[in-house]
Amino acid sequence: MKAIQTKYHGPTTVRGSRISASDLDGNRVIISMPSELNHDEAHRAAAEALCRKMGWTGVLAQGGLAKTEVFVFVDHWSAKPVPEAKPKKEYQPKTGAACGCKRGVQRDNCPNCEGTGWVIDFKAIRERSA
Ligand SMILES: [Zn+2]
Repeated sequence: MKAIQTKYHGPTTVRGSRISASDLDGNRVIISMPSELNHDEAHRAAAEALCRKMGWTGVLAQGGLAKTEVFVFVDHWSAKPVPEAKPKKEYQPKTGAACGCKRGVQRDNCPNCEGTGWVIDFKAIRERSA
């Protein structure tokens, strides 16, 4: 989904201040700073000018970065809630007693402890994931 970045350009000796809007993909417009609008509205006006030029329609969400504003089209594909953080600790199945296998090759290939030296309770793992 397309996104638009807008940026303020200060006045020069030749021109007044302006705002550019770009998709960083070669499409760009520059408008004179609309003095009647506030900061957010002025940046939105530039983004909307680029939309009109490109024929893009939709609902634009706006957000600020350090020196630019970013606009993103909102639809049911792009708008998703931030999922809650996962619990920090992954589930670790309790191991049983020390495994009877010998260290070395036998342990490396041991299906009961998978090389850990401690019997793994696969039944508990199966029941948990069932
Ligand atoms: Zn073992």
